[in-house]
Amino acid sequence: MTFKTLDSAELAGKRALVRVDFNVPMADGAVTDDTRLRAALPTIALLRAGGAKVILLSHFDRPKGKRVPSMSLAPLVAPLAALIGAPVAFADDCVGELADRAIAAMKAGDVLLVENLRFHAGEEANDPVFAAALARNGDLYVNDAFSAAHRAHASTEAIAHRLPAFAGEAMRRELDALDAALGRPRSPVLGIVGGSKVSTKLDLLRNLVVKLDQLAIGGGMANTFLAAQGHPVGASFFEQDLAPAARDIMALAAQRDCELLLPLDVVVAKEMAPGQTAVIRGLDAVTTDDRILDAGPATVARLVAAMDRAKTLIWNGPLGVFEIPPFDGATTAAARHAAALAMTGELIAVAGGGDTVSALRHAGVVDDFTFVSTAGGAFLEWMEGIPLPGVLALNAA
Ligand code: ADP
Ligand code: MG
Repeated sequence: MTFKTLDSAELAGKRALVRVDFNVPMADGAVTDDTRLRAALPTIALLRAGGAKVILLSHFDRPKGKRVPSMSLAPLVAPLAALIGAPVAFADDCVGELADRAIAAMKAGDVLLVENLRFHAGEEANDPVFAAALARNGDLYVNDAFSAAHRAHASTEAIAHRLPAFAGEAMRRELDALDAALGRPRSPVLGIVGGSKVSTKLDLLRNLVVKLDQLAIGGGMANTFLAAQGHPVGASFFEQDLAPAARDIMALAAQRDCELLLPLDVVVAKEMAPGQTAVIRGLDAVTTDDRILDAGPATVARLVAAMDRAKTLIWNGPLGVFEIPPFDGATTAAARHAAALAMTGELIAVAGGGDTVSALRHAGVVDDFTFVSTAGGAFLEWMEGIPLPGVLALNAA
């Protein structure tokens, strides 16, 4: 996998079509978290400095091919202009006459945001005609939306075949980080997979056990593994019907020399609620009315020791119900240890996943990891080993 970066692009006076992911959380017409706007700033700055005309393309929400006024990108103009420190123009359509006119009025260094791509059905259909209409507005294409790269849509896939295509700065950083974690990692490589269900992460587990030296399993899904081994899990959440799948994964791990780190001890309570008395139990001391809500101290101690020996860590999924203290204990302790090692450069620590990002933020270490992906679905598909169409389309080889 090779891709062109903007270092090699001819920019002066060129119309750069930049696919960003501005699907930001909004409430009452205001952006409540501008992380995704800020993620696009390095690429926008680089293009402006090179004298390009910056045309920003994004989806927002799910208008399903129709113009839905409440799903307009127009409310993003003001916050974006404030972040860039320059005016941002807006076109009421991403293709056709309205886009043409707005683009014709641009000068070098100008920034234009065009209306929601998904107001056109051709976007999600990866329609070549719609892609051609988009491509007509640019001299080059930049994809800076890794979080949309798992979808083959006109603005992420088809368009990349019609124009000189480049990875933006955020895309480049993400691909480099992911490559360092799983593509060509420094070994030994340790994985942590947690979260609630095995069922949503079967492919991910299967892909990881063939690539990693060690894989720690935590969260609700660890209960399924413990149950599959014959340990009592009491009233815990677990997926009984997935016991055979769990055993298959254990067998595959053994065959591929991946050491599985299953819990050695657990933290239990009678209810999954705040204010509960938390008790540490050995694996075979779990009683019928116990709920396993976190990993125990011996499990954390072994995980932390594994981090000390590892050169690379890849992490998805919390080790316990981190939203309800004290069941955040194992996740927070492990996150802080990984962060400390990452800060000194001893460990390349990469993490991703919606709740994982929240858990790292809760632990106060989200900025201390080597890289934290906020890409959600795209990150998980990449961890599953699925080629991402938006990334493949950038392949310059
Ligand atoms: P991500 O979004 O990072 O991929 P998941 O969605 O798979 O992570 O899992 C996160 C959820 O798993 C959290 O809401 C957490 O409370 C839950 N969880 C973790 N451990 C347990 C457990 N022992 N029992 C039930 N739920 C758990
Ligand atoms: Mg989640």
